[in-house]
Amino acid sequence: EAREAIISDLEKQGYLVKREKIVHQVAVHDKCGTPIEFVPTLQWFIKVRQFKEDIIGAAMSMKWIPDYMLQRLIDWAESLDWDWVISRQRIWGTPIPFWYCEKCHYIIAPREEELPLDPTEREPPVKECPSCGSRRISPARDVCDCWVDSSITPLVITGWPNEREKFEKLYPVSIRPQGYEIIRTWAFYTIFRCLMLTGKPPFKEIVINGMVLGDDGRKMSKSYGNVVEPDEVVEKYGGDSLRQWVSTGALGKDVPFSWKEVKHGHKFLRKLWNIARFVKQNTSDYDGSEYDVSELKPIDRWILYHLDQLIESTTNDFERYEFPQIMRRIWSFTWNKLADDYLEIVKHRIYDPKSIEEKRKTQFVLLKVLRDLVKLVAPITPFIAEEIYQEIDGRKESVHIEEWPERIGSWLEEGAEVSVLIIRGIRRYKGEKGIPLNRKLKEVEIFVNDQRLLGEIRRNLEDIEGATRSEILIREGVPEIDVVVKELEPDISKIGPEFKEKTKDVIEQMRKIKSEIGEEKLYKSLLNSGIIELKLESGETVNVSERHLKIRIERRVGDKEIVEVGDPRVKVLVKP
Ligand SMILES: [Zn+2]
Ligand SMILES: [Zn+2]
Repeated sequence: EAREAIISDLEKQGYLVKREKIVHQVAVHDKCGTPIEFVPTLQWFIKVRQFKEDIIGAAMSMKWIPDYMLQRLIDWAESLDWDWVISRQRIWGTPIPFWYCEKCHYIIAPREEELPLDPTEREPPVKECPSCGSRRISPARDVCDCWVDSSITPLVITGWPNEREKFEKLYPVSIRPQGYEIIRTWAFYTIFRCLMLTGKPPFKEIVINGMVLGDDGRKMSKSYGNVVEPDEVVEKYGGDSLRQWVSTGALGKDVPFSWKEVKHGHKFLRKLWNIARFVKQNTSDYDGSEYDVSELKPIDRWILYHLDQLIESTTNDFERYEFPQIMRRIWSFTWNKLADDYLEIVKHRIYDPKSIEEKRKTQFVLLKVLRDLVKLVAPITPFIAEEIYQEIDGRKESVHIEEWPERIGSWLEEGAEVSVLIIRGIRRYKGEKGIPLNRKLKEVEIFVNDQRLLGEIRRNLEDIEGATRSEILIREGVPEIDVVVKELEPDISKIGPEFKEKTKDVIEQMRKIKSEIGEEKLYKSLLNSGIIELKLESGETVNVSERHLKIRIERRVGDKEIVEVGDPRVKVLVKP
C-alpha cells in the first residue's frame, strides 16, 4: 500500500523517471509462502542484558546433566543483542499490568497488592502523566509472552509468595527436567526471573533431554511421514513399554523412535507379570518367616547377591541420572538370572520340598527378590509395578511411597556360581537334543579339577539334581577324553585362492596322507605342530594349517557326551 501511494505521489508531481521489475530475496512465511514484511511497532521489554553475569553465575552454581549443556546457556547469555520482548499481540494471554503515557511513554505501574490485574478493565491509578503531565494515559493492550508465565514455575510450585513456610522448605527446588531446545527460553528466563524475585537460583540440578526422532533418524515431521503419536504407542503397548524405551536414551542426545524396542519392553512386562504370578501362586501358604542370609542355601545367596548388585547399580544410576543402563541391567537380571536360572532351580523345592523349612526359605527368597525388583522398576514402569505390588505386598497404599530397596548383604560363592553354570549347561543340552526339560537323564557325571570348588559344588547337589531331574555323580579330577574326528577335509574356498594352480595337487596329497596315517593321527599331529606338511608331485613341500581345513571333532568320554559349562575346571558328562 505504501509503495503504491509513493509511486502515485511521485507520478502526480512528475518526478517518476523509470519503472522496472527487479528480482531480490524476500523472507516468506514457511507455511504459505506469503512474503513477510517487517512492521516496526512499540513493544514491552524486560531488561535482561545488564543481569547476564548474575544469570551465568546462578547457572554455574547448578549441576547440569549432561554438564556440557551449561555452555549453551552461557553462550546464549553472552550473545544477547536485545532485552526480553515480553509483549505479544494476541487475543488471549496474561495481561501486561501497566499503563503508559501516550505522549512520553512513561510507564505507570499498579500497586503490588492490586496484582494480578487487567489494565484494560481498570481506571489508571493517576489521571495525568507524572512525567510530562499529559492526560492521555492508556492501558497496555498486549499480552505476555508465554515464557513470562512459565518462567516462575519453581516459585508457583513452592507456594511463593504467600506460603512462606512451604517456600522456605522447598525452594530452590531439587530438579528441573527439560529439553535442550528451550535452554534459551525456559531455563534462561526461569533462572533470570527467580533470581531477580528471590535472590536465589531456582533449582539445584537441571537435567536436559534430547529430542525423539522418527524411526528413520530424521526429525519427526508430517512431510517425512515419520511421525509417531505417543497415544498410538500407549494404545498398542501401554505406557510402561513406551517409558522403558524412553529410559534407554542418553540424556541430551536425540533418539530415533523404535517400535522394536517398545515391543521388547512389552515382552519384558509379560515376563515380569508371569514371574509375579508364579511367585504369588507358590507363596500363598507362606507364613511370613524371615531368615538371615547365612541360613539360606548357596544358590539363594547367589540370586540375592546379584539382586544386591542390581540394587546398587540401579541406585547409583538413578542418582547420577544415567538412565540408559538401568533397564538393560534389570532386563538381564530378570530374564536370565531370575527367570531362566533361579526359578527353574528352585521349582523342585516348592513342588517337592525335602522339608517345610526348605520351602519356607525358598518362599522368603522369592518374595524378597520380587518385592525389591518391583520397587526398582517402579520409577520406569509405574503401572505394572503398582499392579504387582498390590498383588504380592501392598503393605502401603502404593509402591510409589515405599522405601527404596536396600542391599540385603549377600555374598557370592564360587561353587554356587559354577553350580548355576552346570545346571544351565545341562538344561541347554536337553534343549538342543530335544529332550524334555523334566526328563531324567540316564547318567550325569561331574568332574571337578579343584578340591575346594568340588566341596562347594557338592553343597548344591540337591539343587543340581532337582533342577536337572537327574541323579548326579560328582568326583574330583579330569576325565580321559577321547577325540573323535568326524570330519577333516581340505577347504577349497581357502586353499584355492592361496595355492592357485597347485590346488589340485594339494588336495590330492591331503587325500593320500589321510588314507596312509588315518584321520585321528593326522589331527593329532596337526594339534602338535600346528601344520601338516605335504610333499607335492612337483617335489615342492607346502604347509597347510587349521584355517585351510574343515574340521569337525567330537569329544567324548566312553559312551558319554561332554556338556560345556564355561568353566575349564569342570567337565560334565552326560548319557541321555
Ligand atoms: Zn502465512
Ligand atoms: Zn508523559
